[in-house]
Parts: sequence; C-alpha cells; structure tokens
Amino acid sequence: MEPKNFLNEKKSDRLNELFEFLRFPSVSAKSEHKGDIAACADWLANHMRNIGLDVQIMPTAGHPVVYGSKIYSPDKLTILYYGHYDVQPPEPLELWKTTPFEPLLENEYIIARGSTDDKGQLFTHLKAMEAYLATGQELPVNVKLMFEGEEEAGSDNLEKFIKDNTELLASDIVVISDTAQFGKNLPAVTYGLRGIAFVEAKVIGPNRDLHSGSFGGAIPNPINALARMIAKLHDDSGNVTIPGFYKNVKPISDWEKKQMKRLPFKKAEFLKKCGSKGLFADKKYTVLERIWSRPTLDINGITGGYQGEGGKTIIPSWASCKITMRLVPNQEPMDICKKLEKYLKKICPKYVECQVKIHGGAKGVVVPTDGPWLKAAGAAVKTGFGIEPVFIKEGGSIPVVGMFKQILGLDTLLLGWGQNDDNAHSPNERFSVNDFERGCYSALALLEELAKVGK
Ligand SMILES: [Zn+2]
Repeated sequence: MEPKNFLNEKKSDRLNELFEFLRFPSVSAKSEHKGDIAACADWLANHMRNIGLDVQIMPTAGHPVVYGSKIYSPDKLTILYYGHYDVQPPEPLELWKTTPFEPLLENEYIIARGSTDDKGQLFTHLKAMEAYLATGQELPVNVKLMFEGEEEAGSDNLEKFIKDNTELLASDIVVISDTAQFGKNLPAVTYGLRGIAFVEAKVIGPNRDLHSGSFGGAIPNPINALARMIAKLHDDSGNVTIPGFYKNVKPISDWEKKQMKRLPFKKAEFLKKCGSKGLFADKKYTVLERIWSRPTLDINGITGGYQGEGGKTIIPSWASCKITMRLVPNQEPMDICKKLEKYLKKICPKYVECQVKIHGGAKGVVVPTDGPWLKAAGAAVKTGFGIEPVFIKEGGSIPVVGMFKQILGLDTLLLGWGQNDDNAHSPNERFSVNDFERGCYSALALLEELAKVGK
C-alpha cells in the first residue's frame, strides 16, 4: 500500500489517537502536574515506539525530552524534528466549552488544551512517518525527533540539552510545526526571525532625592537627562541613530519584496487591530518590511522619581530604562549592545553619570532564500494543502531556532498548520480537523521533497 493510501484510510484512527494524547494535562509550569508530564512523555514514547521509531526518554534537570530516531544510512539526508508535548495552564476554566483535557469535536474543530500548541501539530509528522513504516516501507530520509517537555515554562534546560547532545542531534535541516498559517487557507513557510538585544541604562544624578524648590534649576534632573538621551536614539524619520547600527543590514531582496506583496495585508485593518492612530517611522519601507526585515530600537520601560498618589516635588536621584532592539541577520547582538553603550555614554550630559548593563541577546535567523530547503518545503505544503504557500518571516524570536543555528549550525523550516485565531494559550484552544489533516499530508510530502534535496 502507498503511504498516502494509508493516510486516507486511517483518518478516524489518528483523530482518536490525538485525543488520547490531548487527555494528559501536561502543564509544565505547575509542579502538581509533574506526574502528568511524565505520563504524557511515556505515552508519546510508546506511541513513537509502536510506529517503529527507536525511542528514549531523556531526563533533564526539569521535564524530560522524548527522543526518537530512525537512521538508515549516512548517505541519506537527516531531518531533525522539534516539538513540545507540554502545554499552557488551561485557566480560567469557566471560559471553556469543555473540560480542557477532554477533547471536544465541534463544527470540525478539535477543542482542547494543546490541540494546536503543540501536540496536534507535532503529531502530523509522526502520522506521516507511520504511513511509511506501517506499509512496510523505509522512510526516504533519516529522522531524529526531539519533543521537549518545558517549552511553555521557558525551556530552562533546552540549551544545555542541545549542547550536551550535539552528536545525537547532528542533522541536515530542522523542521518545526509550532506556528500558524498566514490566514485562512493561506499556509505559510516561515523562513526568517528577527533577533534581539537587551540593554538597561541608568542615569545617576544627586546622591539623594532633592527638594525641587531649593535645588531645582541648578542641580540637574536625571529623568530630564535620560529623556533627552532617549529622544536622540531615533531621527525624525524613525531611523535608529546609533553609529554603525545599520552597517551589516542587507537590503531587502526582490524575491522577498515579491513574497510580501502576495500577502493579503491591509494597513488600515492592521492599525485598527492594534488600536493605533498611525504608523511610526520611515515611509521608505512597507509595514511588513519594517516588522520582518528591518531592525528596531524600543524603550520597554522607564523608571525614576515619584509615581505614587499626589505630588512630590523632587529632583530624583536617578532614572533608568530598559531597551530592546530587534535585530536582523548579520547584526551581532553583542556588537550592537556595545555600540549602543558607547553612544549612550557619548550623548549623556556631563553633569550626570550613565551606567549601562548589557544583557546580550540572540541573533536573527534566516533560511537562505535561494537554497533548496524553501523550495522543497513549499512544494510539500502545496501538495498537502492544494494551495501555493506564502513565504513569510516573523518579527519576534523563537529561541530554539537560534539555538539550532548557533549550536548545531542548522537552518530551520517553520511549517505551521494552525491558525492565529486557534486560541493558543487562551481558553477554547482549537485546531481544525481540516488543518490537522492537511498538515499530515504536507508532512508526508515533506519527507519526499526533502529526500529529493539529498545530502
Ligand atoms: Zn508551542
């Protein structure tokens, strides 16, 4: 039997199996669920074993990683799959239509905590592998799978796990299904994420808060000073003014511009959704270009002086702010942090002191747009969905993708089968059966398409 026919025949079986998987309250954030997490890891490991994979449950200082593999020959391409079997806490329970861990099928939606984030999505890849192995065929590639148990609790032990297991995880490409389509019936391949750099700045003035009547006008105010400094971090067009900030930023390619133009994006709707009166910054770039392909600098918080009830007439002794910058590939977080530090010290008025704390960050990542991976992923999604996918980027960071790049040197294909309105992290999380199914067929096609790329 062809693997595809196996998928055709087993639709109701795999839905039932997914329901079993969803019944575990594998909430990683709460210690009371430690046993549930372990039981869920056991179930997943057994399921993978039954499919025909070699499986081990690998302990970490937190919740275990379920690791599986099927290795045929070093000549075959090796795909590393990442996903997570832990889920967000389900509260507030009263807003759910069902018990969060008793899946409900309603109007062709699977409603349960973890349905789309990420149990349902990772399951599609297992079902694709099963379709080969259950019909007596070799997978067209070697596969390695790592399913994390603490993604929703901050992935505290993930970096160490990857560093401790570089040989075990060595592969050619990573595949993750833990994102969403761009819109209804608009599947997407996400090929780039921005990085981040984080700095705190503190401006120090008099050795204590002073009476603004007795000292004001003579002794400088650190909040005023910090405000002047912050104002100098952008020019009037919204460009960041730190010297060298844009030095390594590559121009946006024609291919990327073409992809962005294909997307049904409406500026007015976007503004309305955000409740914002207008757009910030440089008119030279479109909104998507600014969010996905241009770096930014934002003050995330500012502290100083008196903010309590009523008035307090002081010149505060200090003021501070937190600054993050979203970076694009080729910008080094440490280099950018140091450039900001140097610039802040330069623009700091001489009558106050500026202290800068560098927290570091993560590099942006992008899968080469002219390489074979995106083409293969695009073809697979087209086969599974019957729709030409769009190629998109994400303005935020996904730490694990950065880790795979930094530690293992691997590019990641982010293939999201869900929807942005699937209520991930919210009550009534859901996953449409249709998206789950199309995900399974795409995952099947992906094995073949990536096999064609070869080593
Ligand atoms: Zn997730």
